[in-house]
Amino acid sequence: MSEEKKRGIAILGSTGSIGTQALEVIESQPDHFSVEVLTAGSNADLLIEQARKFKPNAVVIGDESKYKAVSDALWDHGIKVFAGAEALEQVVEMESVHVALTALVGFAGLKPTMKAIAAGKKIALANKETLVVAGELVTKAAQQAGVNIYPVDSEHSAIFQCLAGEFHNPIEKIYLTASGGPFRGKLRSDLAGVTKAQALKHPNWVMGAKITIDSATLMNKGLEVIEAKWLFSLKPEQIDVIVHPQSIIHSIVQFTDGSMKAQMGLPDMKLPIQYALAYPNRLSSEFPRFNFLDYPSLTFEQPDTETFGNLGLAFNAMSKGGNMPCILNAANEIAVAAFLNDEIKFLQIQEVIERTMESASFIEHPTLEQYIETDKEARALTKELIK
Ligand code: NDP
Repeated sequence: MSEEKKRGIAILGSTGSIGTQALEVIESQPDHFSVEVLTAGSNADLLIEQARKFKPNAVVIGDESKYKAVSDALWDHGIKVFAGAEALEQVVEMESVHVALTALVGFAGLKPTMKAIAAGKKIALANKETLVVAGELVTKAAQQAGVNIYPVDSEHSAIFQCLAGEFHNPIEKIYLTASGGPFRGKLRSDLAGVTKAQALKHPNWVMGAKITIDSATLMNKGLEVIEAKWLFSLKPEQIDVIVHPQSIIHSIVQFTDGSMKAQMGLPDMKLPIQYALAYPNRLSSEFPRFNFLDYPSLTFEQPDTETFGNLGLAFNAMSKGGNMPCILNAANEIAVAAFLNDEIKFLQIQEVIERTMESASFIEHPTLEQYIETDKEARALTKELIK
């Protein structure tokens, strides 16, 4: 690699689905990457196991009650151990960190990402909620700090890969592909009684619980639409969603001459993770290769926004702008957690998000503090609706 011999990687959220796959990528590319920082929310056992194996400079456990267990387990390995949300923000500033992979889930990713940007670290962004909540602030801060944000989300990685060599050419529009999730083809009436287990069964991807439910409600695609707006400086009308159940075409860019470029491959997050960590290089890999004969037809459908109203809510939030996407995100985080806790039914997820969007205070140009306040207010309003 050009500028550094080995890239030092901080993985925020190393115990999650993206985090563990990132460690597999790093393990398979020992000449290119070293693990500098690992962080977990509460899974101390896995964090300890990962730290013993990858020997980072430092680890952070979000749950402070687990600090002693982690510290006791790692004290003779020369690994610094910290705990709590503030440590998570500070640890990305370490000099040996070249790239911060933000693989936390939800709003919790915002502050550490802002800190990493301020410290001039490249960002490999999986935590889409950061851009959904405060896209304007985050992209402005990145521009000011001269920091690049490399997308990890497969759709955005696809767009980014299609844009290689095309950055000077205007985009007419992009098509984000969606698998349609486990309930594709169902009607609203079919969804009234669906269970948590059914919603957690994604047809093509194995992911963390929150994003899997977001995929079942199509909120995930809505969040991705907002993420794409900020990553690629697009207007809402330049972003379209097309259902592609096989998840082979990961997204498409249409240029002003009418030409379309698509990026395709098997659904495997390790590829976009590696691309983001190694950019601008493509590292050779043993990832399974696509075989056309296994997929004799690739098909496309319009998303059903009647049944999956969350996609429409996300488009509305994006068009309204200001803190509305932050309100949408907070309400969604609470609603999804409540669904996973059997406190509300599947269709109520959309209902409580919509009602929170109607009642939370709107701010047109929020500061970081105001985003934090908005997040608190919207969470409280949604919790009240769920009671
Ligand atoms: P997981 O739930 O599997 O993992 C989340 C990680 O974040 C875990 O390491 C968890 O720690 C940690 N974490 C959660 N909350 C906190 C907190 N408050 N403070 C500190 N750490 C915390 O999520 P995924 O890996 O599925 O997703 C991560 C992000 O990547 C999400 O934004 C998602 O939308 C995005 N993404 C994921 C894809 C996937 O295939 N999974 C695909 C594209 C995007 P612990 O488990 O130890 O508590």
